[in-house]
Amino acid sequence: MHWLRLLCGSDRNRRRMLLSGSRANVRRAMHKSIVAEERVSDTGLTRQELQRYSRHLIMPEVTAEGQKRLKASRVLCIGAGGLGSPAALYLAAAGVGRLGLVDFDRVDLTNLQRQILHGTKDIGRGKLESARDRLRDINPEIVIKLHECRFSSENAEQIVADYDVIVDGSDNFATRYLSNDVCVFAQKPNVYGSVFRFEGQTTVFAPHLGGPCYRCLFPEPPPPESVPNCAQAGVLGVLPGIIGMLQSIETIKLILGIGDPLIARLLHFDALKVQFRELKLRRDLQCPVCGENPTIFGPIDYDQFCGGPNDASIPGMSVQELKRKMDARDAFELIDVREPFEFEIARIDGAKLIPLGEIPEHANELDREQTLIVHCHSGRRSAQAVRLLKQHGFTNVYNLEGGIDAWSDFIDPSVPKY
Ligand SMILES: [Zn+2]
Repeated sequence: MHWLRLLCGSDRNRRRMLLSGSRANVRRAMHKSIVAEERVSDTGLTRQELQRYSRHLIMPEVTAEGQKRLKASRVLCIGAGGLGSPAALYLAAAGVGRLGLVDFDRVDLTNLQRQILHGTKDIGRGKLESARDRLRDINPEIVIKLHECRFSSENAEQIVADYDVIVDGSDNFATRYLSNDVCVFAQKPNVYGSVFRFEGQTTVFAPHLGGPCYRCLFPEPPPPESVPNCAQAGVLGVLPGIIGMLQSIETIKLILGIGDPLIARLLHFDALKVQFRELKLRRDLQCPVCGENPTIFGPIDYDQFCGGPNDASIPGMSVQELKRKMDARDAFELIDVREPFEFEIARIDGAKLIPLGEIPEHANELDREQTLIVHCHSGRRSAQAVRLLKQHGFTNVYNLEGGIDAWSDFIDPSVPKY
């Protein structure tokens, strides 16, 4: 089943998905608004708001009562990027009373093909600043709360505590497991979305409402080298638009308490075939966070769990330190583990190209006495290469933090970014 590739799991995980797809008796969650009644009864609508939301108010499924629910609701978007952009735009326009955004990135030119919260004039600005200006313009009636930080094990529970529902627009496994886990702990729905090239998928993880959580489907993250991210594999710019909008629809339904939420169901969209498919999901009673005998009760070290670039067991080196070594003519070898087509676009002088997939067969050609500094595009693949080289007995090996992107940003702007 080709489209299951998107689920990015190991074979074991995939079997779990297929198995879950074959189970028809998924319990439909009962559905009432996730917003606390007392908060709704304390909320009113101004004349201006009655006018602004008039197309909502005339629908019997919404009415002024539903609009007050939206106004009383608090939604957190993790990431102001490809998925977060359309989700936040529509949630703001719909009148979600408090919209929180977590991000720490800056807008760059490669974002604009899909991250429609930001414009050309925003390049170089913080994404949150840029998002706030755009969202305020769309709807000045709502409160926009900015969390300018990396969503981490240290701050996630505290941030999530202020919200009714979380929209996960993250683009990496560490953040996805973290947002899943803290939502399970706090009993808040996690509206999930992911995109890959021409395909995307969305669901609502909410064990407390009867569905599975992310870990029920994917108990373990895939090996980091097996899953390319958007920067490596590409994504059709409009695809996160569709998935992010579906995430905002699901969020609004949860707030209003209407319709059938996408709980225990995963919706998959294939843009090339223009095909939506639905997969039924079930909870895993052995799940370590939402199962019958959970073993995880608080945030863990997700970088280590997912083998990400911030894994403390991977020695890192800054681009400034590399530059200093170059200037001092220190002895070291710089290894570039990207693909040949990337090497054609941009390279750091003196780097030797060995694509990540060829590291195991070429490891023995490298000098074990030498300092090895490994780089890729952003530092993810090189972290994996460092891990592989350490397994081959290399001890003096470093991951260039931020990859060639950081080299271009901080050391040599003549190296093209892509
Ligand atoms: Zn679970």
